[in-house]
This record gives sequence, structure tokens and C-alpha cells, in this order.
Amino acid sequence: MRKLLFAILCAAVAATAFLACTKVPVVGRRQFNLIPDALMLPIGTSAYQSTLADLKLLKKGEQVEQVTQVSRAITRVAGSDRYDWETAVIKEPDTINAWALPGGKIAVYTGILPVCRNEAGLAFILGHEVGHVVARHGAERMSQQLAVLGGLAGLYAWTERRTELTDEQQAVLLAAVGLGAEVGVVLPFSRKHEREADVIGMMYMARAGYPPGESIKIWDRMEAAGAGSSLPAFLSTHPSDEQRQENLRDWLQQARRRYERNALDRDTTAVLWD
Ligand SMILES: [Zn+2]
Repeated sequence: MRKLLFAILCAAVAATAFLACTKVPVVGRRQFNLIPDALMLPIGTSAYQSTLADLKLLKKGEQVEQVTQVSRAITRVAGSDRYDWETAVIKEPDTINAWALPGGKIAVYTGILPVCRNEAGLAFILGHEVGHVVARHGAERMSQQLAVLGGLAGLYAWTERRTELTDEQQAVLLAAVGLGAEVGVVLPFSRKHEREADVIGMMYMARAGYPPGESIKIWDRMEAAGAGSSLPAFLSTHPSDEQRQENLRDWLQQARRRYERNALDRDTTAVLWD
């Protein structure tokens, strides 16, 4: 057992040292990523199929056409060839949510459309989800968890040799470090991922010809949708804070320049859903 744990630790350390760096599009951050697309894409596709099997899909009608049109505009900007893009519309008017899985599999709930309000708002939400995909956030998260696991395996091997620790003390120590690692290493990254997906989403919507200022307004509507009733599902997985809007404002000038070069010749801020 100890040998196996040691092997996991060595593999994690070696992988960290030699493989691990890829670059996130748009923002240019170097990321720690152990898992190649060839492994991640089939995981995303199979998770997508099994998740959709339990949900009520909207197959046709105006909402599907609108989501499909905006979705195509955004994925065209993101690069259509590397991923097998697909966007499902889930018929749940009370669920304010959207998500994306590795490999380009996206879902939009009908309940988020009134928060998007218009085509440009939807372009931002889709841009954000596409942002998670192209930034390979799923693979990065999994890589971090693997690294944490490798670190824990090393600590376990070390405590096993410390004869003065009882089994119980070892368990407590491991649990404490495990918890710390979860909170300290893995979770804060996910807020960083959210902000990164925001920036990528905003740049992509601008390049597709939608006014990027809508990306900031949507957070006010999201918060308003949460006031008084239960928290929108989108906010529980996508923590909203002022920092998030500030972060978008930092990139707004750059996004506006892209928008001005590519602006669509129709009003994409006219209210479609309320
Ligand atoms: Zn997100």
C-alpha cells in the first residue's frame, strides 16, 4: 500500500515538474494541467449525455432558435474546429442556470433567459460558458485534485513512519490537511475560473458583434432575481460579487474596441424575454 501511495506521489511530482503548463486563451495565464483533451473530451461528452437524459429538453420553437443562433455566433469566434460544440435548452422556467462541460457541451435553462433579457445578455452567458471550455477549467480542476491526492499520499507515507502517532491521530491529521487542501488550494481557484470565464465571455461576445457593457448589467439582474426568493442556481455555482463586475470593467475598454470593429447591424439589446 505504501509503495502504491509513494508511486502516486512521485507521479504527481514528476507530472507537475515536466508536463503541466498550458496557456489560457485571451487572458494568457499559464495553467497547471495534467489531463490532455483526448482524455477530457470523452469524459465531457458522456457526462453530458447522462445529465441530459434526466432533464426535460426543449427541442424546437423560438427560444431554441434564439439560443442556437447566439451559440453559433460565439462558438465561431472561439474556434469551431477544436471542439464539438453543442448547446441544449432545458425547459425549466424556474431554474436560473447554465453550465458547460469539457469538450464544448453546454446547457441553458429557460429560466435564465429573462435574466439575459436580450440577445447580447445571452451572448455573454454563452460566452462565459464557452470560456470555461476553451480555458479547460474542468481539466485544470481535476489536475489540482490529483495533485492534492498525491500530496496527501506522501503525507500518509510520512505519518506511517512516525511511530509516536496513533492511528487515530494520523487519521485526524490527514483529515485536517485534506480539508485545508480542499479549501486552500482547490476552491479559491474556482472563483478565479469564474472571473476568467467572464473576461473570455466578454471578449468573445464583443468579437461576435454584441455590446460588451451588457455583461456588467446582467449581474445586477442576477442579484435582483435572487432577492426575496431563493438564490439562483447560477449564483451558487457562479459566486457573484462586486469584484466580478469590477474585473469586467477593467477589460471593458479593450472589449469595446473589438465590438466597434465587429458590431452587428441590428439592436441586440432589445428586450426579448422578461
Ligand atoms: Zn462559470
